[in-house]
Amino acid sequence: MQTYAALHRRSIQDKAGFWAEQAQLIHWHKPVQQVLEYTNPPFARWFVGGETNLCYNAIDRHLAARADQRALLYISTETNEERAYTYRELHAEVNRVAAMMRSLGVQQGDRVIIYMPMIAEACFAMLACARIGAIHSVVFGGFAASSLAARIDDARPTLMMTADGGSRMGKPILYKALVDEALQIAKHPPAQVLIFNRGLDPAMPMTAKRDVDWAQCAASHVGATVPCVWLESNAPSYILYTSGTTGKPKGVQRDVGGYAVALAASMKHIYCGQAGETMFTTSDIGWVVGHSYIIYAPLIAGMTTVMYEGVPTRPDAGIWWKIIQDTKATVMFSAPTAIRVLKKQDPAFLKKYDLSSLRHLFLAGEPLDEPTHQWISDALNVPVIDHYWQTETGWPILSAMPGIEATPIRFGSPSFPVYGYDLKLLRESDATPASANEKAVVAIEPPLPPGCMTTVWGDDARFVNTYFSMFSKKLVYSTFDWGIRDAQGYYFILGRTDDVINVAGHRLGTREIEEAVNMHSAIAECAVVGVADVIKGQMPLAFAVPKDAARIATPELRQTLEKEVLAMVDQQLGAIGRPRTVHFVNLLPKTRSGKTLRRIIAALAEGRDPGDLTTIEDPNSLVQIQHVLKGLAP
Ligand code: ATP
Ligand code: MG
Repeated sequence: MQTYAALHRRSIQDKAGFWAEQAQLIHWHKPVQQVLEYTNPPFARWFVGGETNLCYNAIDRHLAARADQRALLYISTETNEERAYTYRELHAEVNRVAAMMRSLGVQQGDRVIIYMPMIAEACFAMLACARIGAIHSVVFGGFAASSLAARIDDARPTLMMTADGGSRMGKPILYKALVDEALQIAKHPPAQVLIFNRGLDPAMPMTAKRDVDWAQCAASHVGATVPCVWLESNAPSYILYTSGTTGKPKGVQRDVGGYAVALAASMKHIYCGQAGETMFTTSDIGWVVGHSYIIYAPLIAGMTTVMYEGVPTRPDAGIWWKIIQDTKATVMFSAPTAIRVLKKQDPAFLKKYDLSSLRHLFLAGEPLDEPTHQWISDALNVPVIDHYWQTETGWPILSAMPGIEATPIRFGSPSFPVYGYDLKLLRESDATPASANEKAVVAIEPPLPPGCMTTVWGDDARFVNTYFSMFSKKLVYSTFDWGIRDAQGYYFILGRTDDVINVAGHRLGTREIEEAVNMHSAIAECAVVGVADVIKGQMPLAFAVPKDAARIATPELRQTLEKEVLAMVDQQLGAIGRPRTVHFVNLLPKTRSGKTLRRIIAALAEGRDPGDLTTIEDPNSLVQIQHVLKGLAP
């Protein structure tokens, strides 16, 4: 680990020198005057005085060398469409949308809400905002009207861009109807709404003066060019909300220059994506992974990026592997939850396609349990890299960095702190550093590196109070995750600090117990929560999803499986971690980004009000939890 360790050390000890070098990976219209200004902690300003533009770096810069190379490949298994755009074509499309936005009155610094499905036009919209210096706030398509209205009021947009609908499993989701509803309740609605009509809602009503048809507007801007607006590095580029797993989502604000540099560097050192190659990221533009690794980073790197509209199991569970084969993708980025879904399917799908182009699979978003990590590594026979990050950071905090050094992968571990992150494991009681193998809070010594959030949108005080106030004695960024580092320096994330269970004085991370439950070969995934217990303070309760529903068809079968799972926990962790009960369900409550909503499960188990339910994916999961808590079948 010589090379990695030396690079990491340098990135912390000589921040200005290190990042000045990385800054050369992007185009600057005006050179940087000062690499880091940190006079007002914890607010960091990177690449002060430098002027650049995200859209220029993602598109225009490549026109000389790769105008005819594919930049964007849009694949929809929902509407059975496939469209490819070269860098030249993407340039033309983005210019046209920028001209349309200008004609609708959008100026530099204005906010634009993008509430769109995974279609190419959503990519044009984001890049067009970046081009003219408008601040985009992408809201995950399909969020209910109330969530959308809250984000509208926070951003106070000049314009909203949407579509008539999205589609999931072949069923249309009518976005425009949700937009109309949200605009009824919003206090600061935009004056105009631009609507891309896919023909999914023949009865779509239009509101005169406010609603503008995309195709009609586009027709009057054919061949338009709009110059990039050069922005000071610290100008805001976008607002994006966290997933809402632990509570109310927070509006993350990001800059321009720091973000561009962080992404460009990550493509080189972490993802190993080369210009001319293809990257396939299975996320959604409504999430940070989509912003960073569907749209901006692969384009900044001169790659072809795949935008996929659909689910991993339709038309069958081979669709993602077919996309890898057809596009010869070298980098794939997905989430543990998706891999666990595929694990429940016929493994023959993984053998059916030629995956020889693939060099790495990266996974993030949730703990990657060891059995799943092992399973997918064996199936793909390439390094599967678990990496850990947050909406707040915009790019990885912990990862293997094969572009620097091919360190061995340890199943269940997201490896090491990424360069630029001065990572600390701090004791919750007094913020002192933990020893090897001691559970502690994962924290980042400020300044946060380039690319990370610069503040909470419109609320500097909330930025400081939310993230930098966990310890009274130390100004340090808390991730609110719990982790350990072993003697070799590998990190393990043990779950959220909120999710720690205190069983008779022993502090257990829910992740550790979940990991033990997942070791049972019949279990596909599980969630463990702590519930109040008169004797022990708290007790873990497990909710497990079997790979095969037949294993839990009768009360007797459920009892047998529960005994086996409990024995597995005893063996892996000892009796201290043994759940009071293992309940079996067919699905777990998750956010729409695929994260398990433990706070909701815990509330139901303790008979409390589960609170905000707007980010939940499938409400039927709650019904199942309620059933099994009453001793009924799921
Ligand atoms: P909110 O902050 O609104 O409650 P959230 O924390 O789920 O929601 P995200 O920013 O999408 O919002 O998720 C970041 C979190 O996801 C991390 O803090 C961590 O808990 C979890 N996470 C991400 N990647 C990993 C990983 N590789 N291993 C373990 N946990 C991970
Ligand atoms: Mg969070």
